[in-house]
Amino acid sequence: MDHFQLKNGVLHAEDVPLDRIAAEVGTPVYVYSRATLTRHARVFREALSVLPRIHLAFAVKSNPNIAVLSVLKGEGYGADVVSEGEMNRALAAGMPAADIVFSGVGKSRRELTAAVQAGIGQFNLESEEEGVELAQIAASLGKVATCALRVNPNVDARTHAKISTGKAENKFGVAYDRAAGIYARLSALEGLNMRGLAVHIGSQISDLEPSRQAFAKMGELMREIRTQGFPVSHMDLGGGLGVPYKGGEQLPTPEDYAAVVAGVTKDWDATIMFEPGRVITGNAGVLVTEVIRVKQGVNVPFVVVDAAMNDLARPAMYDAWHDFAAVRPTGETMVANIVGPICESSDTFAMGRTIDAVKAGDLGVFRTAGAYGATMANTYNSRPLVPEVMVDGDRWAIVAERIEPAAVLAAERIPDWLTA
Ligand SMILES: *Cc1c(COP(=O)(O)O)cnc(C)c1O
Repeated sequence: MDHFQLKNGVLHAEDVPLDRIAAEVGTPVYVYSRATLTRHARVFREALSVLPRIHLAFAVKSNPNIAVLSVLKGEGYGADVVSEGEMNRALAAGMPAADIVFSGVGKSRRELTAAVQAGIGQFNLESEEEGVELAQIAASLGKVATCALRVNPNVDARTHAKISTGKAENKFGVAYDRAAGIYARLSALEGLNMRGLAVHIGSQISDLEPSRQAFAKMGELMREIRTQGFPVSHMDLGGGLGVPYKGGEQLPTPEDYAAVVAGVTKDWDATIMFEPGRVITGNAGVLVTEVIRVKQGVNVPFVVVDAAMNDLARPAMYDAWHDFAAVRPTGETMVANIVGPICESSDTFAMGRTIDAVKAGDLGVFRTAGAYGATMANTYNSRPLVPEVMVDGDRWAIVAERIEPAAVLAAERIPDWLTA
């Protein structure tokens, strides 16, 4: 459930009409609903409260806006970060360092050092080599880095190939069969406190059976490592729960997910950690766009909107579907292709789709744009970096300003030797 609904014929974010935001901020613009974020954070937590001990680390990469992080901090969430930049955002939002998990396959020496100094709560190690380097950094600083070992369970998440992370050929984690040996060797290193295992098999998961298999394999590995005499007190099951992108689509709910986890983990006697991203933020945001013009096509018209693949990359990157709706629907529909202005054919949001009828100057939204939306935005075609707004009841605020092409241009230089 979200808080983007029609009221008096106008699409609102909570109590604010989206055309008011568009008039004041311009388009394209992302709009987030605080009430939706809060609701999703609570539903997820409540579902998992069937487990005895949990830790929730919001996957910052899904939506790193500091206002979003601030809302989730208020809901008691820590963070799952994959770079020093994300770590600094989580800290800036006031999340305690101890509640932050540092993931990522290529943490640099600089990032590991900064994270040890910040007192990050858990490093999810992606390789033995990384563990050795981190041990050396921590020991040289006189600190101990608390770690989990990320394991690749070789399970197919049955999601889009580009967001599948748990198959043997994927770059993430250590091979399942080598994990117990690596855990033992890393446990012997001064500077490391090995306390757990981590797994994350992919994103936009719509079938819980692969997750159940992966978690069960992690449970077996946990028992094997404990039998060898090493403690495993924390089990990080990652994120990945999918959200409906199409109206009417049915996905597993947080309760369904919690039931699977509870079933697999009932005798684990460990703190179970989660790294939800999309399920918290996906349906808490829309991308508001204006129709530039409607262009005649061979079969159906092209609705050319002012949002593009640089603002919302998912359709171009993953062939993703985002529902489109008019901000002031007339009740009429049309069949159209929705495209952005960028000079790439992949800058296409929908083909031959039945949508609310729109004409030049009308406003529309792409729904379910709160996750992997603004965070992936860029300035391709020298377009502005898209702004973000958060709504809370009848209040709203710009939470990320539009970065104009002139600001990007101002950071560029022509070297003397090109003009001499
Ligand atoms: C991306 C990612 C997540 C979050 O995935 P969602 O599908 O957004 O829930 C969690 N953990 C890790 C390690 C990730 O890479």
